[in-house]
Amino acid sequence: MAIQLYNTLTRKKEKFVPLEEGKVKMYVCGPTVYNYIHIGNARPAIVFDTVRRYLEYRGYDVQYVSNFTDVDDKLIRAAHQLGEDVPIIANKFIDAYFEDISALGCKKADFHPRVMENMDTIINFIRQLVDKGYAYESEGDVYFRTRSFNEYGKLSHQSIDELQVGARIEVGDKKEDDLDFALWKAAKEGEIFWESPWGPGRPGWHIECSAMVKKYLGDTIDIHAGGQDLTFPHHENEIAQSEALSGKTFANYWMHNGYINIDNEKMSKSLGNFVLVHDIIQKHDPQVLRLFMLSVHYRNPINYSEELLESTKAAFDRLTTSYQNLKHRREASTNLTADNQVWLDKITGLREQFIEAMDDDFNTALAISVLFELSKLANYYLLEKNTATQVIDAFTTEFEELFRVLGLTLEKEEMLDEEIDVLIEKRIQARKDRNFQLADQIRDQLKDMNIILEDTPQGTRWKRG
Ligand SMILES: [Zn+2]
Repeated sequence: MAIQLYNTLTRKKEKFVPLEEGKVKMYVCGPTVYNYIHIGNARPAIVFDTVRRYLEYRGYDVQYVSNFTDVDDKLIRAAHQLGEDVPIIANKFIDAYFEDISALGCKKADFHPRVMENMDTIINFIRQLVDKGYAYESEGDVYFRTRSFNEYGKLSHQSIDELQVGARIEVGDKKEDDLDFALWKAAKEGEIFWESPWGPGRPGWHIECSAMVKKYLGDTIDIHAGGQDLTFPHHENEIAQSEALSGKTFANYWMHNGYINIDNEKMSKSLGNFVLVHDIIQKHDPQVLRLFMLSVHYRNPINYSEELLESTKAAFDRLTTSYQNLKHRREASTNLTADNQVWLDKITGLREQFIEAMDDDFNTALAISVLFELSKLANYYLLEKNTATQVIDAFTTEFEELFRVLGLTLEKEEMLDEEIDVLIEKRIQARKDRNFQLADQIRDQLKDMNIILEDTPQGTRWKRG
């Protein structure tokens, strides 16, 4: 069986055939770093990290690139409001982004290119489009001549005339045609700028991805991915820019994840229901948020609510409890051989089901239901009076492997002794300062990590529970 994936370009599930055997070139549009990420940004990060992990599990060598938009209108506005420079705002939220996504179990990309660090590449790309007649300068701006690219609209399945009528396209008298979009924007008074052949300014948003893909992965890549809202105009424009320049197919497969709703409502600034990952993971285990995101097929909409997260936590605990019970039982197990094979075959059967689910357009929802089958089977096995080490090991290995593919971990990370000592010192100080709330908070935090404190006349001792 080969992996099948749904391609937005053809609107069909297709067999995945990479350009080069055993290798995958993958690009995922990254965030604009003017704020902490909200759960709408977390979904593509988790979904496409899982796609990458699964492709690696199936033996592919994946080159994964995801950009940071570190200069644009939103960043300029945020910098202005906070009285800071754009690069300082960008650095702050790039750090926060890495902190959030690593908590969510997402691996770093091979490259995380930033606009500010790739200005020459971007300017060079635009210059070549101008030279070829696909773009033109107008009062310090540069625009892409949309009608010059015959296949415009092929990703979002719209004809150029439909777009002309229906699309909300920024109208400006600097353009030859309303459909044209900006590749370079002349700097307004007081704005951050870079020098270019067209005067001081900064790149438009779409061009950065075309330039980054070309620089880091080449003219043609296997998978280009992002949120569904990026299909038009962002991805459509990326195709136009890249294919106009290279004359080659830009990406063979286009993957888009569905929307996220909050309590059955669209997440929007005006409704004030923006949920930041930063805030959720203060209250909930980030692993639970990840499991929740993967519990719905990536192309379907997902509804977020506190209650759903709570029930996901209960489900997550069921899985980890099975695993812990298996581990505890290992010591008391023997080298039974009688009906081991029956159990081993059942475990293998479940792995095959898991692979089948993931091969079918990365159906994590179904794959997770297989994990619960595995957990049920393990619990059933543990009812046996005598258990075999071999079977226990097969179960635990299976848990570990399938969890890893989904980017989940089974064991809480252990705190280092030094970290514990630091916290205990902090608690002693808090008690001296009569800040009992903080002292209790530290005690609870340690308790969560299974560290038990004992206050004795000689001082505070601790042990692992
Ligand atoms: Zn992009």
